[in-house]
Amino acid sequence: MASVALAVAAIPEGLPAAVTITLAIGVARMARRQAIIRKLPAVETLGSTTVICSDKTGTLTENQMTVTSIVAGDELFSVTGVGYSPDGDIRTATGSTPLTVNDLQGRVALLACLRAGLLCNDAQIVQQGERWNLEGDPTEGALVVAASKAGFENHVLRQELPRIDVIPFESEYQYMATLHDQGPGLPRVVYLKGSVESVLQRCSAILDASGHEQPLDREAIHVQLQDLAARGLRVLAFARKQFPPEKAGIDHQAMIDPPRAEAVVAVQACQSAGIRVKMITGDHALTAAAIAAQLGLDGIAGMHAALVPVVTGAEVGRYSDEELTHVAETTAVFARVAPEQKLRLVRALQRRGHVVAMTGDGVNDAPALKQANIGVAMGRSGTDVAREACDMVLTDDNFASIEAAVEEGRGVCDNLTKFIVWTLPTNVGEGLVVVAAVLFGAALPMSPVQILWVNMATAILLGLMLAFEPKEPGIMERLPRNPHAPILRYPLVMRVGLVSLLLLIGAFGMFEWMNEFRHTGLEEARTVAVNVFVIGELFYLLNCRSLTRSMFRIGLFSNLAVIVGMLSMVTLQLLFTYGPSQ
Ligand code: ADP
Ligand code: MG
Repeated sequence: MASVALAVAAIPEGLPAAVTITLAIGVARMARRQAIIRKLPAVETLGSTTVICSDKTGTLTENQMTVTSIVAGDELFSVTGVGYSPDGDIRTATGSTPLTVNDLQGRVALLACLRAGLLCNDAQIVQQGERWNLEGDPTEGALVVAASKAGFENHVLRQELPRIDVIPFESEYQYMATLHDQGPGLPRVVYLKGSVESVLQRCSAILDASGHEQPLDREAIHVQLQDLAARGLRVLAFARKQFPPEKAGIDHQAMIDPPRAEAVVAVQACQSAGIRVKMITGDHALTAAAIAAQLGLDGIAGMHAALVPVVTGAEVGRYSDEELTHVAETTAVFARVAPEQKLRLVRALQRRGHVVAMTGDGVNDAPALKQANIGVAMGRSGTDVAREACDMVLTDDNFASIEAAVEEGRGVCDNLTKFIVWTLPTNVGEGLVVVAAVLFGAALPMSPVQILWVNMATAILLGLMLAFEPKEPGIMERLPRNPHAPILRYPLVMRVGLVSLLLLIGAFGMFEWMNEFRHTGLEEARTVAVNVFVIGELFYLLNCRSLTRSMFRIGLFSNLAVIVGMLSMVTLQLLFTYGPSQ
């Protein structure tokens, strides 16, 4: 009987249930903050995240693009207006009045550039009451809007030059191309748009203001590109090619995608919580650097874009694994990164012992999402493949939601620790009571069934209520939990030991006292021993509500679930004690 009792005592029967339910409550809390968890253990992993690798576009920035500058025919134009509303116009960089229809007619290169942007495009802007809504990719939406500011009409143009074929945009090759029919007898035309580097590779000439081809000065274009990118602008180049082949020309448009205000706050919160934030983007190095500086990433806050150290995908490709381990640790901004390289970056960070959260939206991001400790996919813009591979989906595609999830994850980790610190002394105490009874040759103070009662009833009615404990203040000001550190740190082990000892003394002492001195009989003495455990745990529960602050400071009523649990436990225990035993 004693060994059965010992076996029952040693196993915390309520633990698996309590852990699962605590995690599940974490999932519900995260869902309320726009983060949907697909795999339960991810909740706990989130709490010990040390690095977040986030893409830039959409997650750290608004993903509401607006074309602000156009370079065409060696002339710089600025575009007014914000967002997707067609209010706004095109002017010369120095001009204070919009270009008239006549002005525009004379600028063949500008029109060619806008036409390319509109034709090589899958986005649509639809008006809904007061609002202008985008259907499709924001980068492309911005181009539709820019063209409409010059009087182009999307459906008219797309009807005049019907599309015959398309190569859709992919982050890997960074361009999109469409083939158009210009009508019977006329040559077909290809329009190409993409990052300046990728388009420039495929061009041999540039259009001047009147639409004539001039030799291409690649250097000059790179200088212009850097000027624009250093302002945090995303720069796209446009080209066309006619069949029979006429040489392709190039112009570019630059669009602004400002950092999200919430992202700036969330990045700060992560960094003060000891979590590194790294930006990984397909965009140009300078654009990425400018946005990263505005976001205030560690070490580069407010820096001039040209001074921010950026590692590009091409460099990542050249590094050996060891070199990359070092580079990944020390660099905050990665630009022109292809999806496969994300996988190497995650591995490099993990070799340093980091717990990595990584965002991704494309099909090719899936391996990196799987490899990361927390793969984060986008609910709105992401692909299904990315969502299948991830641990967490952000319903609002917002970096701030990752931060919120980490915060909730930390709360869950805390609550799990509290539960363990609360539940272990019961098991140790019960075990000690049984061992003491054997050593002293006394009767067992609790029968195995009574031990089972104590374990199950208190775990559910008392311990579980710790899962509802609100987050500790300053939870995002402390460093991340070391993933290799034990859950029970030294002071907590001592605490578990002390409480176990108190329970042993109380239960065994009271049992002996009742049995030996007051001769109440075994039944009554055992009932007393059971009550010592239940009452002991009841008050110890209040003690465990916070591991750092006293119950008087957190307030008795700040977690009503605990009160309800305690009252139910007392009721049940009264029935247990005074109810007829058939
Ligand atoms: P991010 O990770 O920041 O979203 P992407 O990989 O989507 O970056 O884009 C990389 C580059 O490809 C951009 O800087 C831009 O020059 C170009 N680009 C982005 N979207 C499109 C598109 N729809 N069509 C053509 N080129 C694009
Ligand atoms: Mg993108």
